[in-house]
This record gives sequence, C-alpha cells and structure tokens, in this order.
Amino acid sequence: MSQLEIKNLHVSIDGKEILKGVDLVVEQGKVHAIMGPNGTGKSTLAYTLMGHPSYTVTEGEVNFKGQNVLELEPDERSRLGLFLAFQYPVAIPGVTVANFLRSAINARRRALNKEDKGMPIPEFRKMLKEKMDLLKMDHNFAGRYLNDGFSGGEKKRAEILQMAALKPEIAILDETDSGLDIDALRIVAEGVNALSGSELGVLVITHYQRLLNYIKPDYVHIMLDGKIVESGGPDLALHLEEQGYDWVREKYEETAEASS
Ligand code: ADP
Ligand code: MG
Repeated sequence: MSQLEIKNLHVSIDGKEILKGVDLVVEQGKVHAIMGPNGTGKSTLAYTLMGHPSYTVTEGEVNFKGQNVLELEPDERSRLGLFLAFQYPVAIPGVTVANFLRSAINARRRALNKEDKGMPIPEFRKMLKEKMDLLKMDHNFAGRYLNDGFSGGEKKRAEILQMAALKPEIAILDETDSGLDIDALRIVAEGVNALSGSELGVLVITHYQRLLNYIKPDYVHIMLDGKIVESGGPDLALHLEEQGYDWVREKYEETAEASS
C-alpha cells in the first residue's frame, strides 16, 4: 500500500510564510479531511502538492513511492499515481469530455511505455460507460465540450469522472475556491464515496462543514495558522459542527504559550 507522506512542510508566498510545518500521512484506502477557518493555508497545501510555481517550499519533504514529490513536474506527479484536482480549469471548446479523458489516459500510458498505442476505443468506451454508471452519470455528459458552459456541479462531475478514469492511488481535492453549490458538494461526496475503497486514498480539503455530512472521513484534521493542530476521527467533525473553532484556537494558543 502506498502512502503520501508530508513532513514538516514550510511554504512561503512572496517571502511570507504560510505553511509552518505541516505533518500528514495519507494512506491508500483511507479518506482524510482537512478543515479549518479561511486563510489558514489549506489551499496553499493543495497548490503546493500540485506543484504550483508561486508557492516556495522552504523546508520539509513530500514523499510518495520512494520519490520526492516536490522535485517532480505536475505531470510526473500525476503519472506516479497522484490526482490533483483543478488540473484543467479552462474550457476547451471542441474537445469533448470523452476525448479529453482518452488523451489523459493515453498520455499516461505512453509515459509508462513509449511503444504504447493507446487504449483501444472499444475498451475505452466500455470503461467510460462503467465509470459513468458507477457515478450515476448520464452517458450524454461524455459528449459535451469540456467545461464549456459547465455549471459548478458539472465541472465537479468532469473532475470526478477524470479521477475514476485515471485510477490514482491518492487524490487531493480542494473544495474551497470553486464556489460550491449544494449540487456540486453532493457530486463530489457521492464520487468520493463511490470510488474510495482499498485502492484509493483521498485528501479532501474543505471549509464546508456540510461536505462531511455526505463524506464519512476516516480521519479529520484541523488546520490553524499554517499547521495541523488537531487530528481525530469522524467525531472531530461533529464536535466542530457544534463548537466551531474557538476551542481549538484556545487549546493551540495555550500549548504554544506553554512551549515558548
Ligand atoms: P485557506 O485555503 O485555508 O483559506 P489559503 O491557503 O488560501 O487559505 O491562504 C493562506 C494565506 O495565504 C492567506 O493569508 C492568504 O491571504 C495568503 N495567500 C494565499 N495565496 C496567496 C497568493 N497567491 N499571494 C499572496 N498571498 C496569498
Ligand atoms: Mg482555500
């Protein structure tokens, strides 16, 4: 079983430190959720894991399958078995969802074996149908132009379908910036529930408490001020729903004072 290991990760943007030592292990087959108030660095973690050039790692490591993920290009990370959402936020008129997925799959096959001729079309069609059925998606969706006039929910649907087709070992989903409506939340949650299992590990990053009413994470982590300050099981999410973040903040400030 592979796992993504984040160790003492420090990340700066324009010289300002945003992540201040994040430690986290996400195992294949488990669902982890990171929650936290706005501005605590959750998206910074997601962007850093996907290799966004604006984020400078000043300290720490991210390891996956014996490789230092931070030294890999975004497409190499994907080939290694990491799925990072928002790899294609732009509309591609003239390219259908199906064609986009087929070229993504074939690019990955070719990267593993230069001689590969690509997935035969009948095999691709069969696979796509199975995945769409699993995700309860209308087959017509595959014929639409990618992201062209897509609603928030449809963008999520395309993203989840891409995840199903590429079969990553670890998927990282940041739900914060996408203007999620309840429909989109449900699509993400149902997708994660349908696809997670022994093969797929998921890291869901969210400040939407409500997402966790639909996804049942194995582990919940709270991020405050660029660090994970509290980890627990699903009951931690319930506790947050009732109590908010103040108690974590107080506890964290007390510990910080005691150790300074
Ligand atoms: P979260 O996702 O938890 O809401 P972010 O990771 O988006 O938090 O942001 C953490 C902090 O980093 C915030 O103070 C934010 O203003 C700052 N920040 C994020 N992205 C940038 C950026 N591109 N340039 C400058 N500051 C940024
Ligand atoms: Mg965010």
